[in-house]
Amino acid sequence: MEYSSLTLHEALGLLDGGQVSSVMLTESVLARIDAVEPTVQAYLALDRDGALRQAHQADQLRKNGQAGPLCGLPVAVKDVLCTTSMPTTCGSRMLEGFVAPYDATAVRRLTDAGAVLLGKLAMDEFAMGSTSENCAFKVPNNPWKPGYVAGGSSGGSAAAVAADECFASLGSDTGGSIRQPASLCGTVGMKPTYGRVSRYGLVAFASSLDQVGPLTKDVRDCALMMQVISGHDPLDSTSIDRPVPDYTSALQEGLKGMKIGIPREYFGQGLDPEVERSVREGIVMLKDAGAEIVEVTLPHTDYCVAVYYLIAPAEASSNLARYDGVRYGFRDRSASSLLEMYSRSRSKGFGDEVKRRILIGTYALSSGYYDAFYKKASQVRTLIKDDFARAFAACDLMVSPVTPTPAWPIGDKADDPLALYLSDILTLSANLAGIPGLSVPCGFNGEGLPIGLQLQAAHFDEEKLLRAAYNVELRAGLVGKKPSLA
Ligand code: GLN
Repeated sequence: MEYSSLTLHEALGLLDGGQVSSVMLTESVLARIDAVEPTVQAYLALDRDGALRQAHQADQLRKNGQAGPLCGLPVAVKDVLCTTSMPTTCGSRMLEGFVAPYDATAVRRLTDAGAVLLGKLAMDEFAMGSTSENCAFKVPNNPWKPGYVAGGSSGGSAAAVAADECFASLGSDTGGSIRQPASLCGTVGMKPTYGRVSRYGLVAFASSLDQVGPLTKDVRDCALMMQVISGHDPLDSTSIDRPVPDYTSALQEGLKGMKIGIPREYFGQGLDPEVERSVREGIVMLKDAGAEIVEVTLPHTDYCVAVYYLIAPAEASSNLARYDGVRYGFRDRSASSLLEMYSRSRSKGFGDEVKRRILIGTYALSSGYYDAFYKKASQVRTLIKDDFARAFAACDLMVSPVTPTPAWPIGDKADDPLALYLSDILTLSANLAGIPGLSVPCGFNGEGLPIGLQLQAAHFDEEKLLRAAYNVELRAGLVGKKPSLA
């Protein structure tokens, strides 16, 4: 048996039982990476020696009875999270070779729990995109069908987990970037409530929307990862000081007493018939588990794309102003004046999509347009939030597709940003409202591409999400189904 194909909790069981060492697990994953990475292209940085060193230490700690909850388990993180042991590029030429002076809190919590940090995963530049094709260095492939997109912006994080190139990973979700690649690659992915996980050391895209979360092989692993990364952090003033529940104990069989809403607006035009069929089968699984299914409405859904694509670029234009060639990353050395240096460094350092967002965002914030665009979008954001508050008065969770279609060939939509923006319609609103959301595999289409089911909950109701997802997973029976790579 290949150890790399185990889930986190299976590997943990073997470690606890003394049947395997962290060094053996790590070597198995490194061998798997050697075999499939030429096809998958998920890693921007791989720290082989460091990983083996950490694995040796983990084995020692376990021997001494000092094992943390993830002791000895090899994981990897999206290259948007700062690490001192490897560069943090955000998939951008702007930060090529940049090594952060500190570790992100989420990363630190993983390593404090004993996890072995393998490497940094490919992503759309500064997390802007839905396919990871905006990565300046490599484009990850969908392990289920190489040549197809892995999704984005956390495409490398989803592909690496689906291909058994790590036991679990971290991604970031500003408008769907954990849930959408998880759905396209057939993994579990959770965007926690805004404030549940510290954003310290997460390179900012849109600060009021960004959240760190796990991508895993099953729901139990998602609970394990959430347990470790959640909680208050004095270094992030938006992280919330509220006890972290025992997420694993939330995984109970049966959903008796739970009301699950189907938002009418999420099953509209443009939904691929195979996605709809799979998700409807998932809804039957929820019902079979004892949940009561009700219809709910989110009347402002049509405005989500417009609101998000004003607010996110506006915040990005402000956050990305720091990349001026002076303090961070790329500097154009041919300039003869300071202004020219700024302008050339930014023109050459950023890719097209990032520049497009900066232009949109700067325009939306500029005097004379601020009221018509940014302010209006913020007002409509409140209406979208209110929709969710009303809906969650009538149900515990909402169920829907994650994305309107399964994965598509790399290159197919690369020249059509608007088509990609529109395909975010089902995930953006959770970020606008700050609520948690999760994608769990519920089926495959005729081409063998995975389809995810999205669950959304009220603020801090992650336990309900995990419990419902666990019941879908038990019935769908897809855990252990693997892509036939190399
Ligand atoms: N696809 C969305 C965008 O391009 C979401 C990205 C994200 O969640 N980081 O903005």
